[in-house]
Amino acid sequence: MSTATPSAPIVRAIDVCKRFGNFEALKAVSLDVNAGEVVCIIGPSGSGKSTLLRCINQLERMDGGAIWINSELIGYRREGSRLHHLKDREIARQRRSVGMVFQRFNLFPHLTALGNIVEGPVQVLKEPPKQAEERGRALLAQVGLADKERSYPSELSGGQQQRVAIARGLAMRPQLMLFDEPTSALDPELVGDVLSVMKQLAVTGMTMIVVTHELGFARDVADRIVFMDQGEIIETGPARELLSAPGKKRTQDFIAAVR
Ligand code: ADP
Ligand code: MG
Repeated sequence: MSTATPSAPIVRAIDVCKRFGNFEALKAVSLDVNAGEVVCIIGPSGSGKSTLLRCINQLERMDGGAIWINSELIGYRREGSRLHHLKDREIARQRRSVGMVFQRFNLFPHLTALGNIVEGPVQVLKEPPKQAEERGRALLAQVGLADKERSYPSELSGGQQQRVAIARGLAMRPQLMLFDEPTSALDPELVGDVLSVMKQLAVTGMTMIVVTHELGFARDVADRIVFMDQGEIIETGPARELLSAPGKKRTQDFIAAVR
């Protein structure tokens, strides 16, 4: 089952299906993401982008197909059998290696910026608090908020909160970071700072999957863009190529509408 090789992708999704009642949110979606790769997922609202990220992060249980994270199988269906999933404890362990930043800032309101960042490392990874705080401060500096360690979320702008959320994700030493429209709830003037933190992170070699409508960011930062529509991957390709010369009409129409 675990056939780890140096070239194994960080994420391998094969024929992932997800239904909500009779509605097929994901129709046999397959995607590989290699170590150090930045993949942007674009597509209209309701096309299944969040559902795919949530399946990868095991916030949703898929109904068919298989996903490997770091060569570890997290759910799969054998011919003629029920779908097998990891046990809850295995899911919790596996999920630690995947950081996720959501559209809405979801910091703990009763903890400071630094408190939010050290919570996971201390409680879950059992890091000594002093060590976690030291690293937390370095991470705050990395996201440009060295002077905000004592601030509570309510005292921070949306963009600052989102940067704390990124630092909090990184504090867990993830192998993969997932971003679900991390800037779409922000005032326009705050978007740039968050995107530039993500851009720097990409340069460090972090493996990232980013759902975004920021096509400029996708063009500059993504190695690959995936276009989804109605629960399917319609097209995927190198960022500049896909944006400047999309092969499919649906992709062309979407890009023209977002621009
Ligand atoms: P996107 O992120 O591309 O906007 P989503 O993955 O959030 O799309 O949703 C894909 C489709 O699945 C949408 O039609 C949405 O209404 C539906 N959906 C998502 N989550 C649920 C849920 N928990 N229950 C029912 N339908 C859902
Ligand atoms: Mg979404």
